[in-house]
Amino acid sequence: MELDFIQKLVKPAGTKIVLLVMDGLGGIPRESDGLTELEAANTPNLDMLAKKGICGLQQPVGPGITPGSGPGHLGVFGYNPVKYQVGRGVLAALGIGFDLQSDDIAARGNFCTIDENGNIMDRRAGRISTEENQELCSLLRNIKIPGVEIFVETVKEHRFLIVLRGEKLSGDLTDTDPQEVGRKPLQPKGLTTESEKTVKLIEQFLEQTRNILADHHPANMVLLRGFSEKPNWPTYEEVFGIKSAAIAAYPMYRGVAKLIGMNVLETGATIEEEFSTLEDNWNDSDFFYLHVKKTDSAGEDGDFDRKVSIIEKTDKEIPRLLDLNPDVIIVTGDHSTPSLMKAHSWHPVPALLYSKNCRPDKVDSFGERACITGGLGPRFPAVDMIPLALANAKRIEKFGA
Ligand code: ZN
Repeated sequence: MELDFIQKLVKPAGTKIVLLVMDGLGGIPRESDGLTELEAANTPNLDMLAKKGICGLQQPVGPGITPGSGPGHLGVFGYNPVKYQVGRGVLAALGIGFDLQSDDIAARGNFCTIDENGNIMDRRAGRISTEENQELCSLLRNIKIPGVEIFVETVKEHRFLIVLRGEKLSGDLTDTDPQEVGRKPLQPKGLTTESEKTVKLIEQFLEQTRNILADHHPANMVLLRGFSEKPNWPTYEEVFGIKSAAIAAYPMYRGVAKLIGMNVLETGATIEEEFSTLEDNWNDSDFFYLHVKKTDSAGEDGDFDRKVSIIEKTDKEIPRLLDLNPDVIIVTGDHSTPSLMKAHSWHPVPALLYSKNCRPDKVDSFGERACITGGLGPRFPAVDMIPLALANAKRIEKFGA
């Protein structure tokens, strides 16, 4: 469903919605007992919500597509991730909590090694330490180009972020990273006439960078890619007519929430602290997104038992959520991260929707196999969840007479 269609139908109500996202929630069965992490976890509270509510498996982007956390979240937030794409540079900025302003241009940078002829020997400069990266970034901050403000920020090891801030900039330019060794870095090329100014600025930046880094083997040059502008998307308030707040400890998720206009709340790093933040701010918003990161980290590490214990820890906090008496609760993930695969995957993600107005199905526990049989369906689009939540919260008007 298109956002502008929903936008015309939303109406105000004094109801509250909570979207609990356990990152990388979905899994696949382990050999010993054939259970996934969510099925193996002891989750009496989530099971109760599944029993009273309606369940299913959702696809954040589409069939067979393995989502990154950015697109995965946008899908769950109700924004079609194929239409609302975030550039790589912008994602890098969000990942380190850089406060992008509208019209800023961001790109990912790699420190690399070039030989005396200027050909790339190593695209990652031997994966220099993050400390060395910080020293080199502080050198690059000395670069001054009239008419533009330049930010150079360490990400990790050989990776950094560059942001240009100024008038009439454009992110429509090509990468300088040829993606292979033995070649010279590419010259950036403008893809539109609006990007000519930005191309010239980047050329000047690269020229000065080359001089500054000349004696800093192995990190004696940089490669830039994923030039992109901060997107100017309709906000949650504009589309869904709802005052929203985000509770997430990690910068990347705070950043994605900020892109769609959510009010990002200060919170602690633990699940308990995140639920305290929810309690403390309960009266100030209609919609709360609460993010649990460590389910995904455990999955990426291939640590089945740790992922189980994070799910159980989250389950223990559910009574605190229920005490707040929300009108609608959604519990889901932004993609699957099966411990057995040690990576994100394309598998549909368990989802439950609980409200006082929903029509329950036969699902009585929260797990992959149970959700396949649920009323929301075995492979429904993630973007459907927010309209359903709004309807259950009596925030959508009748369509037509
Ligand atoms: Zn994720």
